[in-house]
Parts: sequence; C-alpha cells; structure tokens
Amino acid sequence: MRKLLIVGNWKMHLNASQASLLLHRLSERIKIHHDIEVVLAPSMLALQPLSTQIDRRKFRLASQNAYFHDEGAFTGEVSFTMLRELVHYGIIGHSERRHIFDEDLNMVRDKVAAAIRNEITPILCVGETKHERDEGETKQVLHDQLMTALSNLTAHEVGKTVIAYEPVWAIGQVAAKPDQVEAAVTYIRRYIGDVFNELAAKKVRVLYGGDVAPEVIHGLLAVPGIDGFLIGHSSLNYESFAGIVEAAHRWQRNRRSSGEGE
Ligand code: PEP
Repeated sequence: MRKLLIVGNWKMHLNASQASLLLHRLSERIKIHHDIEVVLAPSMLALQPLSTQIDRRKFRLASQNAYFHDEGAFTGEVSFTMLRELVHYGIIGHSERRHIFDEDLNMVRDKVAAAIRNEITPILCVGETKHERDEGETKQVLHDQLMTALSNLTAHEVGKTVIAYEPVWAIGQVAAKPDQVEAAVTYIRRYIGDVFNELAAKKVRVLYGGDVAPEVIHGLLAVPGIDGFLIGHSSLNYESFAGIVEAAHRWQRNRRSSGEGE
C-alpha cells in the first residue's frame, strides 16, 4: 500500500521566524503517524533553521524549487546538491514557476533529473489551464508534460517519483470535482504503466492540488488511486492543515481496518 503524502507549499510567505512559529504550532497539533507522511515546503531561507527544529518523526522538508546545475556561475540560484542535506523532496514544475517564471518543458525535465541525481524525490506538478480544459486538451497537456519531464528517468526512478495533478484553474480558486481528479489520476497512472511499466505505475504516488481545504477533503480522499495532496493557502493556517492531516490519517486507518486498498 502506498503511503499517504500531504505536502504544504508555503510559497513566498513567512520569514524564518514566522515559519518557525508555524512549525511549532503544527507540531503541537499533529501526532506521529506511521501511515502518512507530512511534508513542509517553506521558503528557501527558512529551510536551514527549520531543519534543526523539525521533529523528523512527524515532518519532512521540501524545497519549492531549485536549479538544475549542481554548481557554477548562476547568480541567485540554489542547486539540489546544496539542498540534499536539508530536504527529502523538491517541488518541480509548479504552475507558478511555469507561467510566471517561464519554465519550459525542458527545464522541468532537467530539474527532475537533477533532483534524482541528488537523491531528492521530485514532486512533479502537472496540470492544464482553464482554456486547455475548455478546449478538451487536458489529456494532451498531461501527456506532453509527463513525456518530457520523465524522459531521462528509468522505470525504477519513475516509481519513486511523486506526481501532483494541479489544474491551474483550481489553484487558489475552487477545488476540482472528485470525478475530474479521478480522470486525471487514472490517466497519469495509465501513462506511466504504458510508457514505463506496471510496477512503476503501482509505486508512483499521485497527489491532487488546487484549493484543498478541510471541507473538501473527504470527497477527494475517496478518489480511487489518490495518494494525498499538495496544499497551498490552507497549509498556512495551522488548524486547517493539522485538520487535513488528522482527517487523512483517520481515513487511512479506517481503510486499513476494513481491508481496502491492500
Ligand atoms: C498550489 O499552489 O500548489 C496550491 C495547491 O495552492 P492552493 O491550495 O492555494 O490552491
């Protein structure tokens, strides 16, 4: 059974002391769970102090971005090589990086390869814009993003990767409906099965992201094949984020005791 994964993306919010306070509040509310992984992605600046504060039985850290070269004359950039002792995960290809910072398919591919090279698990974000969905292009967009991003990986490496389906129109707006999420999750896993192998498709964890909040969590947890969530604004509110984590844990426990999903 794949472990549930809940990732909080704090984006460009909270300085280092505010981030430390939020971690403290989350630590008070979130218990140690062995069936669920909770990952926090603070700003680059807060990663180092949080790495010394964090209770590793409860949380892991992720970077929100990094550059694809390991070192060199790249003013202002931070590499996965520099991050490898701080983070387990690296968010790559977030739609804000693709659309605001013009990261193209090839750059995302190179970042995925750099993360793997540095033993950091990529959380690869894919998803269509509203226009692309309206034009019926969702599967084509997912296909193109997956094809390029995973093209330098072996099936074994793909199996260890996390894919976050994040429709651009849902981020910070309105959560996608469970059936829309199911269609994308099924497509992503089928793509990996067809292009790599069935073992990779079985192992890869597929998350959903886009306006996930405590009110919608139960409907989304019931989506077949979903392995967790990438959460933006609700992860900045400790009660909401801790509530989502605890609800996911209860759901997972009930699922196990009823023998589902083994
Ligand atoms: C995100 O930006 O990855 C995200 C899912 O944001 P939000 O939860 O705010 O929609």
